[in-house]
Amino acid sequence: MLPNQIPNWIGIQEQPTQANEWFEKLNPANGHLLCKVARSREADIKQAIEAAKKAQPAWADTPAVQRGMILHKIVVGMQNRQSEIAAIVAAETGKSMKEALGETGGAIQCGLFYASEGQRLYGRTTTSGTANKYAMTIRQPIGVAGLIIAANTPIANVAWKVFPSLICGNAAILKAAEDTPATAWIFGQIAKEAGLPDGVLSIMQGFGEEAGAPLVAHQDVGVISFTGSTEVGRIINRVAAERFARISLELGGKNPLVVCDDADLENATKWVLLSAFSNAGQRCASTSRIIIFESVYEKFRDMLVEKTKKLKVGITDDCDFGAVINEGQLLGMVSAVEKAKKNGATILCGGERMTDAEHKDGYFIAPTLIENVDPHDEISECELFGPVALLFKVKDFEHALQMANDTPYGLTASIHTKSIHRATRFYDKVQTGVAVVNAGTHGSEPHMPFGGRKLSGNGSREPGTEALNIYSELKDVYINIDPTQV
Ligand code: NAD
Repeated sequence: MLPNQIPNWIGIQEQPTQANEWFEKLNPANGHLLCKVARSREADIKQAIEAAKKAQPAWADTPAVQRGMILHKIVVGMQNRQSEIAAIVAAETGKSMKEALGETGGAIQCGLFYASEGQRLYGRTTTSGTANKYAMTIRQPIGVAGLIIAANTPIANVAWKVFPSLICGNAAILKAAEDTPATAWIFGQIAKEAGLPDGVLSIMQGFGEEAGAPLVAHQDVGVISFTGSTEVGRIINRVAAERFARISLELGGKNPLVVCDDADLENATKWVLLSAFSNAGQRCASTSRIIIFESVYEKFRDMLVEKTKKLKVGITDDCDFGAVINEGQLLGMVSAVEKAKKNGATILCGGERMTDAEHKDGYFIAPTLIENVDPHDEISECELFGPVALLFKVKDFEHALQMANDTPYGLTASIHTKSIHRATRFYDKVQTGVAVVNAGTHGSEPHMPFGGRKLSGNGSREPGTEALNIYSELKDVYINIDPTQV
């Protein structure tokens, strides 16, 4: 099912790179070679851009309703092959099949939403200040869209960008994450089977600087949508802004979850476990700062530590979470925890690579809770993107709110309280793109806008209908009539 070599899709043609270079993709669950992957360079990206430019005018001329029908066929293909997609996601991320199936279901839902948007690519009709003049806006494609994604939820990340960019009439070039090449590859196969015209979607494999950077720099790529780290987002922002491309940046987080003294502590514990550790903490929306009122601090901490120690780590469906994506990521996290420890942090549980027989060959880290850190320590401010969360003690609500906002990031936040007053003030004042009451920190549903403030993004919002504003141009149209000619 998973081929030994993952080529590029340039349009509907599978192709090796021009230099026939390949890199190795390892299985995060056991460190074994999973497949070899096309290592694209600038020349390959240019080829995909040429194919996109050639195909895009006819795709733009295809009525949006018909574009939606083709996208719907892709969705049906995903539904028919859901287990196959999920098996690939599971194999290349080191997560369980159950988790991968859930993620694939989310991607299908996203596809369904955008396929139907073909019937609703609304502009606006309005009044004019001049007699016999009529004003409206129409939505038009930008041209070629460059899509660059992270590896954490690979099929969801593909769907999140490909469907809205295509429904708007653009041709798209997706630069797959180097850690999850096969998920993007099978999506290309499904798109081909669904009858997506040649050149409308290319799926390029390779490393960021070699295959992503030329896409970002190319004058003919009118919109860049990027999901990944703030560090890389900053580079992309600079390069694409220089040539005035549209840019959407979906970046990192250091998300707070506040536990008030009136919270249902059982419910709060359940949501912290899910938010901090599901997908091995590799979610931009993961809870990594748990902010607890001092009057319930010890009680809540002890409940949380007890339940965290019982979490099962591995790739079978009874596990709570699996591996992290690569060894570098794992080692970086372990060393950040070591450094915090040297600076006086208390490791309540975890903090180490799992070295028992079942886990030693893979990239598994035990679920980690840490206390006694300063809110401005390095570990409190940097996103680790793994199953590591910090506990902080606060006096009262205002202290909790101040600490929730005292971070370079602003993606998601959650509060646990029975008070409508606290809940309302929190969602009003917390400086994030998503606020949640009495549940976890999480991303948005496919029909809702997601995005972050501060270093978590540049103010763009995807998905939802808001994503249509990323991938289309609005044009004002004025029609003047002469009533004497009627
Ligand atoms: P990363 O920034 O290292 O890589 C993301 C993608 O960018 C990869 O495809 C990579 O090849 C490419 N890339 C790297 N350097 C590039 C360059 N110079 N030019 C063009 N492309 C380049 O991120 P990662 O470690 O793979 O993913 C984790 C990060 O993604 C975390 O910070 C996480 O919070 C973030 N993320 C954000 C969201 C969101 O919606 N806000 C969702 C998922 C993940």
